[in-house]
Amino acid sequence: MSRYSIGIDLGGTKVLTAIIDKETGELIHFVKKKTKKDKGVEKIVQKIINSIREVLEESGKTLEEIEEIGIGAAGQIDRKNGILLNAPNLNCENLRIKELIESEYKKDVYVGNDVEIATIGEMYFGSGKGYKDFVCIFVGTGIGSGIVQDGKIRYGYTGTAGEIGHIVVDPGGRPCACGGCGCLEAYASRLAIEKRIIGALKKGRKSDIINYLVEDKPIKTSMIKKSLENKDELVLQIINEASEYLAAGLASVINFYNPSMIILGGGLMDAIDYFYERTIQMAKIKSLPIPAQNIEFKKAKLSDFSGVVGAALLCEYRKNNNT
Ligand SMILES: [Zn+2]
Repeated sequence: MSRYSIGIDLGGTKVLTAIIDKETGELIHFVKKKTKKDKGVEKIVQKIINSIREVLEESGKTLEEIEEIGIGAAGQIDRKNGILLNAPNLNCENLRIKELIESEYKKDVYVGNDVEIATIGEMYFGSGKGYKDFVCIFVGTGIGSGIVQDGKIRYGYTGTAGEIGHIVVDPGGRPCACGGCGCLEAYASRLAIEKRIIGALKKGRKSDIINYLVEDKPIKTSMIKKSLENKDELVLQIINEASEYLAAGLASVINFYNPSMIILGGGLMDAIDYFYERTIQMAKIKSLPIPAQNIEFKKAKLSDFSGVVGAALLCEYRKNNNT
């Protein structure tokens, strides 16, 4: 019998809300809303409330058919009390999201962080199904990871384990948003790649990516992909460089943690096979021989929907694991 819940992936640019069949992981219906302009506590809460109503109306499901609601947000979370402590890219602090949504819909609400829910999604219905020791690494605006140890997510002593984006790959190197220098995400995240391309164009380097750019709009993955297909020298050089740093980060994870598998997610990994293949090939070369020979790599199977599927399974996961 089908059992439904609602999963919400609350990011800096969009909120994705979906009804998921918890037995099969099937995506019944979803709505996507932009969060770019409407930030701050009240607007974000209103957006979540509206998106739940819409996904129910559009899918024809009733609130009674929904067992619970799971929310994952980019930022620091108080998991026990369901409070979004700090989410700079949503302009929110101490948002009592669990309490607010529970009082509106009279359903239990579970709150996690964005990487945690995406990892749970991949663990239940994606590339991690059937595996007990693996790491999910998501290359997006930043770079984050979820560590699965003996079938459970490893949160760390203060709940921030998996911050692979802040592994130092170049001491004293480029400044990072965390306040440090030389962190992996300052070299290999989408944002870092975008900055490198824009910087090189401003210095007068030639590239065919200029033909696809729209003023004041960010560089899209599809533009990078097209430039690579056209063998554009600049984009190829920047992607190769990012891939080299990312491989160094992955090799550190392989040597330190010895996982059976690494799942790689995020738009660039999903869409650009060259980036994915080159990175894993170099990561194996840079790692110690025995863990490198035995490790498996997979792309995240649920792509953009890892987060909503995992958010919908958040309650299930926590109850099964007493966390
Ligand atoms: Zn950092």
